[in-house]
Amino acid sequence: MTPLADLLIRRIRQTGPMSLAEFMSDCLLHPEHGYYTTRDPLGAGGDFTTAPEISQMFGEMIGLCLAQNWLDQGAPSPFVLAEIGPGRGTLMADILRVTKTVPGLHAALQVHLIEASPTLKAAQAKALAAYQVTWLESVMGLPEAPLWLVANEFFDALPIRQFTRDGARWREAQVGLADGTLTLGLSAAAPMPELAPRMSDTKDGDIVETCPAAAPIVTEIATRIAQYGGAAVFVDYGDWRSLGDTFQALEAHQMVDPLARPGSADLTAHVAFEALAHAAQNAGAVASQMIPQGMLLGRLGISARAEALATKLSGEALKSHIAAFDRLTSPAEMGTLFKALALAPTAKLLPPGFDA
Ligand code: SAH
Repeated sequence: MTPLADLLIRRIRQTGPMSLAEFMSDCLLHPEHGYYTTRDPLGAGGDFTTAPEISQMFGEMIGLCLAQNWLDQGAPSPFVLAEIGPGRGTLMADILRVTKTVPGLHAALQVHLIEASPTLKAAQAKALAAYQVTWLESVMGLPEAPLWLVANEFFDALPIRQFTRDGARWREAQVGLADGTLTLGLSAAAPMPELAPRMSDTKDGDIVETCPAAAPIVTEIATRIAQYGGAAVFVDYGDWRSLGDTFQALEAHQMVDPLARPGSADLTAHVAFEALAHAAQNAGAVASQMIPQGMLLGRLGISARAEALATKLSGEALKSHIAAFDRLTSPAEMGTLFKALALAPTAKLLPPGFDA
């Protein structure tokens, strides 16, 4: 049993079952035993791999997309270049490398990273040693200034609540105890006014998920973009609206039981982009249409970039370069499962690749 399992079991014995959100939050970010708090989970030796870790081309495309948008918005100086949940700092390093030749951009930017994990903060400091970087605890600390922000596989790590429809009411997923071990159960049915819009597109027994932490984060970002200019690009796996159980755990690149080893497995859920778009619109910004990752990267020119890189490669290196391109863009891999959404002050000012 993991130390965190022991702690959670004792807590449930004292105070009763906890919501999935509370469970997820402890598993991922408990100060002593949390998954992100205690390790670097990325890469081949870790539990999962992300787009920036697969190939530099991902960060290059996103970097040029943001840089072009900065130029299109009149190249404001100074401006904040920010990332939430930067992992090992690879994406930001690629963005900074590819934008070096954009006149005036590096002189104007202030890099801000929002990261909860001390272990990953240290990795980011190493990857970005050549740059001046400010770390923030939360998006609330972002300066009041033009803001270009990126988040890749961040929102999927935020705690979710999960509800099963029961007539006109909903039963919430809870973590409780059965025979002394952690087990998933459902609360008694209760009305859920915030799920009223889902009465028309769900039926009895359907599962929907909400992510209470996401909207306040998007609100902070969108408020700055609406007021001072800039853009945000969010990339994650998920869909427009949540439907069905997407709560999952990964350990050593394998799907595992999310309750089996709290604190040792990565817990995620699909992102419902509609909620992000609505929060942005309520804060006065414009949200793009959601676009599949493969299509976005295609529009941003990843094929030409892949070909240019390929001319310098041969043998195994060329093979793995082609495999990385497929992984990022192919519908059978990340190409359609992963989606992107952009925010901007107006529809005309959305970054390249995105439709209003
Ligand atoms: N964007 C990176 C890493 C994705 S993993 C990549 O694409 O490789 C999720 C990241 O979000 C990690 O850096 C994790 O520590 C961070 N994170 C998770 N929950 C967070 C929170 N509530 N606040 C800030 N960072 C968080």
